[in-house]
Amino acid sequence: MAANIIDGKAISAAVKEQVRDEIAHEELKVGLAVVIVGDDPASRVYVNNKKKACEFCGIKSYEYALPEETTQEALLELVDTLNADANVNGILVQLPLPEHLDEKSVIERISPNKDVDAFHESNVGRIMIGNYSFLPCTPAGCMELIHSTGVEVSGKECVVIGRSNIVGKPMAMLLLHENGTVTVCHSKTRNLAEVCRRADILVAAVGRPNFVTADMVKPGAVVIDVGINRLDNGKLCGDVKFDEVSEVAGWITPVPGGVGPMTIAMLMRNTVTAAKIQK
Ligand code: NDP
Repeated sequence: MAANIIDGKAISAAVKEQVRDEIAHEELKVGLAVVIVGDDPASRVYVNNKKKACEFCGIKSYEYALPEETTQEALLELVDTLNADANVNGILVQLPLPEHLDEKSVIERISPNKDVDAFHESNVGRIMIGNYSFLPCTPAGCMELIHSTGVEVSGKECVVIGRSNIVGKPMAMLLLHENGTVTVCHSKTRNLAEVCRRADILVAAVGRPNFVTADMVKPGAVVIDVGINRLDNGKLCGDVKFDEVSEVAGWITPVPGGVGPMTIAMLMRNTVTAAKIQK
């Protein structure tokens, strides 16, 4: 039987409407600064989508498009300025940065209260102990998608493929906070297919097209595909081989239209949270 498709577009639209209504109802003044360095086309698309979402929600967006040759000092100076600007509640530096720039020190320079990506070490630490203001947008979006299925996380076997700081690790932590029994897989994992087949909830954040095949999926499982891979023909594709996995899974997210739009919706939510904290 074919899986239920988890409609990330519709769910993200509902989150953005909630954010918009909250801003209007509470008469909040909310601003998000988005900094992009260089002209990576994928980053440009993400930044434009974030701008559109801000417009929809009633968040003022301030865009800083800096040239590729921007120095570390100039970028840090801009972050300092934005930290001090009361109109800016959230600061997002679009990653990846050009190679000559040190991402880590830029992220650490952002005021933790304005760190709407939740990448700052102090926010990461707070997620670890379960006392946080912001959740990183992509894992938070995945949790919303899982919740939308009505499948309880508590007590379930959850497998996350990928252990990056921005997706895999925080994803595992959020599942753990909801009492999932969590396994994190990576490139050194042995018997990956066997481990994945145990999962009631399987999250793929690998960055390899069609990596998860039907034989890796337990019948009826919830499958969340975080991957965004561009194929040679220009098409986007996830980490999950959708056609065959959707014949086995109970629930599945498509790419595009799954996790991607949720990431942006959660960014909007974090920005409102930031504005409230700063108020
Ligand atoms: P990273 O490259 O940082 O991490 C990939 C992870 O996959 C690593 O932990 C790596 O293991 C693991 N991996 C690689 N090959 C294998 C393998 N053969 N078997 C098992 N594990 C493997 O990627 P990100 O976490 O940043 O992103 C993952 C994907 O999600 C990408 O496609 C990215 O574009 C997408 N993404 C989507 C977002 C969205 O909004 N939808 C947001 C962020 C990312 P190891 O640690 O051992 O190297």
